Amino acid sequence: MDIRSNHVENVLTVNPQVLMPETPEEAHKLFLLNPESSSFIAGGTVIQMQREQGILSPSILISLEKIIEMKRIYAADHYLSVGAFVSLSDCISHFLLKDKASLLLTALKSIAAPAVRNRGTIGGNIAYEKGDALPALLAMDAQVQFFDGTYRSENIDSFLKRRWKHPLITSIRLPLKESTEDSFSFFKKVGMRQAFSLSLVTVAGRLCLDENRRCSEVRIGIGSSNQLPQRLPRSESLLEGSILTVELLNNLFDTLTEEFHPSSDILISGEYRKTAAANIILFHLYQLCRRRKGEKG
Ligand SMILES: Cc1cc2nc3c(=O)[nH]c(=O)nc-3n(C[C@H](O)[C@H](O)[C@H](O)COP(=O)(O)OP(=O)(O)OC[C@H]3O[C@@H](n4cnc5c(N)ncnc54)[C@H](O)[C@@H]3O)c2cc1C
Repeated sequence: MDIRSNHVENVLTVNPQVLMPETPEEAHKLFLLNPESSSFIAGGTVIQMQREQGILSPSILISLEKIIEMKRIYAADHYLSVGAFVSLSDCISHFLLKDKASLLLTALKSIAAPAVRNRGTIGGNIAYEKGDALPALLAMDAQVQFFDGTYRSENIDSFLKRRWKHPLITSIRLPLKESTEDSFSFFKKVGMRQAFSLSLVTVAGRLCLDENRRCSEVRIGIGSSNQLPQRLPRSESLLEGSILTVELLNNLFDTLTEEFHPSSDILISGEYRKTAAANIILFHLYQLCRRRKGEKG
């Protein structure tokens, strides 16, 4: 593709120019020519939704559709790589993800309706910053691969916190952890209409629980439609190395509600989101606790 320096003045428009680079380097260069008026576009579901709400598009859309390397899923020694342009549907049906990333698949199945999942991509879900995949990716310790002049890699937790300006996400890497009978995960999305709407609150968790109910490798990811998804480090530390008891769960409720500060909006109060999230986490841990107790007899 021929990259020329043609500066575009109008920042927003109803009829954007669509560019089709074939490599991440080319896409990044095109972006730098007109950073104020350009935006990357993958499946286009968010941009289409914004247009329907009367929000104008940036005047240059840099489509990622022709970048072949962003459409691959493969397994390496210690991780699974998922290209940013892989659609949510293709992630859901891929044998590698079915086998090795069940927590992410549960999250992806909760997103929108099939038509949106056929177009929407995993990279778009991350860049959107409100996506329901994010709590699961946080709980899985995913790494984001991106290009901003150099190829870089960053843990998704710090990637989100830094709020990088327009990096091109090229893929995500999911660490391959051996699934044992001690490893557990859970995911729950609370929405006004399950699977067809943005969440009021979405929670994902992963941990190991040995036969004495001692917790390790605890990760909790949480998100709600009006704020950046996050990990809950204080609650994770409280559980890490401790034996799961009813008393510990009571303490956990207090820590969770102190640590998570969702805001209110016209749909629902922050207090409701916070209490719902804490109850969901406690419910899943309590179930685990009972299961382990039952197994021990
Ligand atoms: C009716 C409807 C219901 C929805 N319900 C849900 C839901 O339940 N849960 C949910 O999580 N989402 C939902 N969404 C939002 C959206 O469909 C998904 O989040 C989807 O994964 C976005 O992917 P996309 O490829 O379409 O993103 P796009 O619309 O193409 O892009 C979204 C944003 O990400 C940027 N971007 C895209 N790819 C990259 C990349 N590789 N690198 C850097 N920036 C990039 C774009 O510049 C843009 O700012 C819904 C959307 C609609 C229209």
